[in-house]
Amino acid sequence: MNRVFNFSAGPAILPQKVLEQARDEMLDWNGSGMSVMEMSHRGKEYLSIAAKAEADLRELMSIPDNYKVLFLQGGASSQFAMVPINLLGDKTSADYLLTGQWSKKAIAEAKRYCDVNVIADTSDTNFTTIPAEETLKFNPDAAYVHYTPNETIVGVEFPYIPDTGDIPLVADMSSTILSRQIDVSKFGLIYAGAQKNIGPAGLTIVIIREDLLGKAKSNMPAMFDYKIHVDNDSMYNTPPTYSWYLAGLVFAWLKEKGGLPAMEAINQKKADKLYAAIDASDFYSSPVEKSCRSWMKVPFVLANADLDAKFLEGAAKQKLHSLKGHRSVGGMRASIYNAMPVEGVDVLIDFMATFEKNNA
Ligand SMILES: *Cc1c(COP(=O)(O)O)cnc(C)c1O
Repeated sequence: MNRVFNFSAGPAILPQKVLEQARDEMLDWNGSGMSVMEMSHRGKEYLSIAAKAEADLRELMSIPDNYKVLFLQGGASSQFAMVPINLLGDKTSADYLLTGQWSKKAIAEAKRYCDVNVIADTSDTNFTTIPAEETLKFNPDAAYVHYTPNETIVGVEFPYIPDTGDIPLVADMSSTILSRQIDVSKFGLIYAGAQKNIGPAGLTIVIIREDLLGKAKSNMPAMFDYKIHVDNDSMYNTPPTYSWYLAGLVFAWLKEKGGLPAMEAINQKKADKLYAAIDASDFYSSPVEKSCRSWMKVPFVLANADLDAKFLEGAAKQKLHSLKGHRSVGGMRASIYNAMPVEGVDVLIDFMATFEKNNA
């Protein structure tokens, strides 16, 4: 077998143990004589898989009882529309924090449904900073406040959770969910595409406080109404059954590893090491302000961009895969999600040092 250290931004690396278990269960899940892919989503086997995945996620994140968990399709990008469709109610505006390419897309979509107040905008720093907490001023009439705790393209992360008082806080956690402990009760709604830190593409998780349900207008598509999905236990139509099952295997794996406190410690260690290596050298640098560097996404540039191709070629020989930065930013970007072992980061740091010695 020839597995690489996969630093892909998403779809991203999955725990090898999870893939092995899926392989072992591929043709015959638990004596059912079927693959999970072939099962009715309404049969008792699949219902047990679905229920266990939800229970494990609730346990991992300590999700309070007054929150519903949905397993949907459509990606985080569909949530850019579902959030305003479902949360506006009688209100006509929402507050958004613009801190990168994903919040920009969320804002563009929300503008189809309401007046968007962009109450913070870090575009003047090329999205390498996060607004200071005390500068945020929320509009009392806003139906909700939307932000992106971790922006994947430049690699910034909020070092705080905005305190919006009574206004529901909505977070696109696609690239940070499950990376550490969070207090779910501070949020009205959390959503995340699965393909970064949860499981395979095709699944989207939504965690919503119950009192926010039931406000979608009746002329909106049923598939875009959270209440309909809640009333049908995410089975209003056929859910992404296999992705949901694999997410369940990832949740069980996380529990076995010690849950989110353990992941938090490992993730901080991986990020700290990599940033320390970047900061210790003049050959590499990080464009992101230190106070808001992402644990999950570590972008760095070589002082001499002419060496980028050579760097990537040499990295590939060490099985270090998918380090090329986003096309809009250039340089390198290491995505170090939960499934990236510490060893992968160590191999990357060693390679960076050797490459610097040979090319500085
Ligand atoms: C990757 C990512 C997305 C994209 O989500 P899709 O599931 O592809 O629609 C949205 N937001 C953030 C923060 C992301 O990291």
